[in-house]
Amino acid sequence: MTSLQLISLRKIFEPDNPAVRGLDLEVCSGELMVLLGPSGCGKTSTLRMIAGLTQPTSGDILFDGKSILSMPPEKRDAIMVFQDDALFPFLSIGDNVSFGLKQRKGKTAAQHKKLALEALAAVDLKGFENRRPHELSGGQRQRVALARALVLRPRMLLLDEPFGHLDRSLRQELRSMFRNLQEQAGITTIFVTHDQQEAVQLADRIAVMMEGKLQQVGKPNTFYEHPKNPAVARFFGSSNLVPGIKTGDKVKTDFGTVTIAKSSVSDGPVWLVIRIESIETGQNGNNSFSGLVESRRFQGERIRYRLGLNGISLDWLTSPFVQLEPGATIEFNLPADRLTVLEK
Ligand code: ATP
Repeated sequence: MTSLQLISLRKIFEPDNPAVRGLDLEVCSGELMVLLGPSGCGKTSTLRMIAGLTQPTSGDILFDGKSILSMPPEKRDAIMVFQDDALFPFLSIGDNVSFGLKQRKGKTAAQHKKLALEALAAVDLKGFENRRPHELSGGQRQRVALARALVLRPRMLLLDEPFGHLDRSLRQELRSMFRNLQEQAGITTIFVTHDQQEAVQLADRIAVMMEGKLQQVGKPNTFYEHPKNPAVARFFGSSNLVPGIKTGDKVKTDFGTVTIAKSSVSDGPVWLVIRIESIETGQNGNNSFSGLVESRRFQGERIRYRLGLNGISLDWLTSPFVQLEPGATIEFNLPADRLTVLEK
């Protein structure tokens, strides 16, 4: 069921450089939609329009089929969480979490306290209720910010790079904690980030935005398997884009002719999209080539090689058991069913 609908949403701060250029997006009830894109593409402006903090230049925002544009922020029941936790420094952690509840009528002080303690327990901060924000680490403060948002059970949760300033392992931990809590609570959520990995780990669906426009919306794997255009493929950094000329199931490139699986893209100039994990060692298929190992980088549990073939460079991400020295020659295969083409 659709919960939130953005209809031709636009925001123009400067006429020659609109921040948001006609966004159409539907977010389902309880869904976690990640709005992903490079810095300055209009993600925060979009969130602020949904929250009611920025007025759109044109377009509409519907919640459960009704426009919320004329509602003030406090009536929209959309809670925003920012990178900066923005806790009240002189209030205890417990009071920070129950602060929003106290603004709402209908519950007693004892009920507020109980809900706040439950929310703190849910983010693994049982026993921290009497501390002040400065007595907590950055990661713990951000967990308080999450508890403070979730305790209100809003109908929409809007998060703007909430874990952006934390270190890598803490980000991982908070992401999975947040994902579980969001799923349990079933709150329709938009999570803004510029980090592809974060998007892929969190999202039910991802909406990729560039220069104020939506480029592609889909499940996380779609962006690897079927990027809609070269800009999306490049942004994910997970594919090599090689220029070529397509004729039927063949693509002629500078390093040779490659056989591809069936494609609906017309014959003519194309980008051949080779996923960086899809390259296989050995000459065991139709698309066998030989290249030179130009460089090697260790990336955690994987190794990233750069292969050179007749002036074309291909990135290849592989297991640490494939040990090759720069300068070595390698025979490899490009499985046709893992190749795609995009119109050029
Ligand atoms: P980041 O990831 O860096 O936060 P973003 O994708 O969230 O970027 P926005 O903050 O929405 O991008 O900004 C989009 C564009 O709108 C930018 O060019 C920015 O300079 C401009 N912009 C945002 N807010 C205002 C404002 N209040 N007045 C003028 N221009 C603004």
